[in-house]
Amino acid sequence: MQLLDGKIAAQSVKDRLTEEVKKLVSRGLRPPHLAAILVGQNGASETYVASKIRNCAETGFRSSLVRMDENVSEEALKAEIARLNQDDSVDGILVQLPLPKQIREDNIIQLIDPDKDVDGFHPMNTGRMVQGLPSYIPATPYGIMMLLEHYKIDTQGKHAVVIGRSNIVGRPISVLLNQDGPRGNCTVTVCHSRTRNLAEICRQADIIVAALGKPRFLKADMVKEGSVVIDVGITRVPDTTKKTGFAIQGDVDFAEVSSKCSYITPVPGGVGLMTIAALLQNTYHAYSRRNNT
Ligand code: NAD
Repeated sequence: MQLLDGKIAAQSVKDRLTEEVKKLVSRGLRPPHLAAILVGQNGASETYVASKIRNCAETGFRSSLVRMDENVSEEALKAEIARLNQDDSVDGILVQLPLPKQIREDNIIQLIDPDKDVDGFHPMNTGRMVQGLPSYIPATPYGIMMLLEHYKIDTQGKHAVVIGRSNIVGRPISVLLNQDGPRGNCTVTVCHSRTRNLAEICRQADIIVAALGKPRFLKADMVKEGSVVIDVGITRVPDTTKKTGFAIQGDVDFAEVSSKCSYITPVPGGVGLMTIAALLQNTYHAYSRRNNT
């Protein structure tokens, strides 16, 4: 078994971007700028946003954080997005999800300028991605594709099983793995909470992407010998041995599954780090498009 190490692959993306930003700055240009909106004080969201901001700084990107109260109205959030859409110094906008109940996420996502939609959640970008046109690809699926590319995983004609059909992970990764391309051309089965015989379907997979949010769900008897296993899950489970009081667990029972597969991503240290690298890549791309660099 070989580890698909997100730390190594993400660092190589970030090193490349750091060099690009240095070149821009040495030409007297400003660096790319990511603006994040964080509503409320959800612990996991705080951690994700802090990590995105830290990674911007490490790569030489500018970042700004707009904090909004948990009880903010949809109108106030919309006004903030309109402001960032208009702000010429901002290249990429992300609204950290989930949002509080009084706000409809789809209303908000559709307001982000598609050219600044570095999370790739706007329906315009989703549509373009499905048609294989240039678009912003959601960061987690994009990060998975980068990881497959980094380790030159052969996907051609392989059977990929995706567990989960969300708009941010399961559905887009199923499209990307199915598309004609160097890390695509898979035959894809998308499973979800109503799928029957899930274990049997998983056992037929050459590649499994587990994105359902159920800790240690995928067991050794659900994977075939030599398969490639990508674990997207991130769940906080109580753990009194940790200072934080919780541990992060993936959707794959790593201890069981790792001895059976050819490649596997760890959690933490796998897809999560690639997600941030992909977000930076999208922001850099947005900057280049807007500034013709
Ligand atoms: P979601 O809740 O929106 O979707 C979960 C999907 O899993 C649904 O389509 C559902 O039908 C399916 N599902 C649920 N139970 C199932 C079961 N028993 N069998 C088969 N399918 C089942 O979740 P999401 O936003 O796609 O996130 C999934 C996981 O990935 C979560 O743990 C989330 O925290 C994590 N995540 C990680 C990253 C990262 O950067 N690594 C990014 C996004 C999400």
